[in-house]
Amino acid sequence: MRLRHVGSSHDMMREHPLVIKELAEYEKDITRIFGNDKPVHVEFGSGYGGYFSSMAKKHKENNYLAFEWNSKVIVRGMKLLDDEIEELDNFRFVHSDAGKAIDLFEQHSLDRIYLNFSDPWPKKKHAKRRLTYHTFLRKYEKLLKEGGELHFKTDNDDLFQFSLEELQYNGWNMKLVTRDLHSSEFSKDNIMTEYEKKFSERGKNINKLIATK
Ligand code: SAH
Repeated sequence: MRLRHVGSSHDMMREHPLVIKELAEYEKDITRIFGNDKPVHVEFGSGYGGYFSSMAKKHKENNYLAFEWNSKVIVRGMKLLDDEIEELDNFRFVHSDAGKAIDLFEQHSLDRIYLNFSDPWPKKKHAKRRLTYHTFLRKYEKLLKEGGELHFKTDNDDLFQFSLEELQYNGWNMKLVTRDLHSSEFSKDNIMTEYEKKFSERGKNINKLIATK
């Protein structure tokens, strides 16, 4: 299906079937959009949504919500996925700040949270903007079900080290830690994100962890 894309990014998002509109209408539970009880997986900072839409097609048993706060990035993602709309009944973009997700779900309702190639915010004075800073981790803890998992991949070795320490200091348990995902045994089921393709083509090692609270 080819859709027309004209107007401002907000107008385009409002008309697109893959973007959730009027978040407030879901009374603090946007998972209602799917109309079923399948496990819900969320990605914060999805970019164009290539990773989560691929996951959604591969795993019809789950629902996938891709959070992205940049409307232009979502519009680009919408265009890339125009031909796949019919197959993506279990995928939606959410135009929202990850920090506000806490208002959009019931407590302890998510099965997984994914962070892929999150902005590193290397300066110490910006540390609180990192999506693995402890204020975000507290929110994830409230969002995840018991036993729910946080999956994190990054090319940035410093952000990875910071995140590992921040998680452990805040009582999260590591189920998996690798500094070189692509040459590890975990690479066989790995789907690459857009950033992951870019960085690994340049020969960069990719870090991955899975943590539970
Ligand atoms: N996950 C994608 C994109 C990584 S780039 C990939 O791996 O290819 C990081 C993305 O996160 C950018 O698109 C940026 O706009 C978005 N982002 C950063 N902070 C965010 C926040 N607090 N809430 C929602 N999106 C955020």
